[in-house]
Amino acid sequence: MAIGSESLGQQPRLCVRCLGRLFAKVGKGVSNPERGAVVSDVLGYEPAKPDACPVCKGVFDSLIRFRDRVIREMEPWEHSSFLIGSRFDPAVVEAEEGVWAALRTDKHEPIKMEFNRELGKAVALATGKEANFEHPDVTVVLDTTYETVDLQIAAVFIRGNYRKLVRGIPQTRWPCKACMGKGCRRCGGTGKMYQTSVEEIIAAKLMPQANASAHFFHGMGREDIDARMLGDGRPFILELRDPHRRALDLQRAEMEVNGSGEGVEVTGLRPAASTEVAEIKNERTDKVYRVFVKFDAEVAEEKLNEVVSALRGSRIVQQTPTRVAHRRADMARHRIVRDMRVEGRDGKGAVLLVTAETGTYIKELVTGDGGRTTPNLSELLGVRCAVEALDVIAIGADKGCEQ
Ligand SMILES: [Zn+2]
Ligand SMILES: [Zn+2]
Repeated sequence: MAIGSESLGQQPRLCVRCLGRLFAKVGKGVSNPERGAVVSDVLGYEPAKPDACPVCKGVFDSLIRFRDRVIREMEPWEHSSFLIGSRFDPAVVEAEEGVWAALRTDKHEPIKMEFNRELGKAVALATGKEANFEHPDVTVVLDTTYETVDLQIAAVFIRGNYRKLVRGIPQTRWPCKACMGKGCRRCGGTGKMYQTSVEEIIAAKLMPQANASAHFFHGMGREDIDARMLGDGRPFILELRDPHRRALDLQRAEMEVNGSGEGVEVTGLRPAASTEVAEIKNERTDKVYRVFVKFDAEVAEEKLNEVVSALRGSRIVQQTPTRVAHRRADMARHRIVRDMRVEGRDGKGAVLLVTAETGTYIKELVTGDGGRTTPNLSELLGVRCAVEALDVIAIGADKGCEQ
């Protein structure tokens, strides 16, 4: 690159900083104003005063004012890291692009880059917080023309396991179908199909601490509303949006959830990375169930044992169950029944322990769902079978019912 004093002289007169920024990629550890001073010395270039500069229009003179404004805006949001972005008047961007084109330089940096860096340094120095380009707690976008500040607050993710000790509550909030959550006569004005959920019971103890605007629940699968979730519980992540506080007392929240008497318990609460949500959602692990089965006719012990042995390790085909057909595509799924054991029995019923691949419809494995699941317990026993109750007792391949 060779920028002669001649071609530079034909351009509108720049301030010393904007002059230096044309050479930003030349040498390190030097600021743009310092570079500009050297260049103007060597070339005998008389720089413009910043507020007369056609590119920056003196915006850097307001850096301290912008810094204080940004700090004030971020203040209500607890954070340890931040990232500064900015918007400039398109005329400014055009002006600097015009200079680059005329001088055919390739050592420059855009004004935005310098501005973001300088403002970031000023904020870091004044607050002791660090700039983070990957996962900032707060992202600031400052509009230098209108002097507006937009903030994006990174969500907080809390991971743990939950146990559901009662039947009849769904895992997540379930908006009323009739009013879509607005509140109507059918839902008694609550906007919900169910008065509460695992999500709401846990969130109730974390939302006030975080002073967040909304919560989202990510479970490693879900059990039926009428099934309990026992054993070590089910891994989940609760996402808290727009949190004012990020350092939460999770031990306290755990005690509060467990002491709420609402039938949900949590263990092992800890802060999680946002990337763990996908991990939890994609985990395809075996589940262990305790199934309370009722027969409509007497079944001999020998016959029951024989059928359970036949189903153990078998591959079953499940057409989408009638009970979920309204919200799932109708298709055939192949699933492996890893293990099946009789835990207890009398003539009219049995308690079975079943380990199955994730996504297996256990109720249909028992009832047959009108022939949509084959083979099935009812068909092999030759009696009608009903599931009286169902519990998930373990999640994870290493927790099979053989142990
Ligand atoms: Zn300038
Ligand atoms: Zn409603």
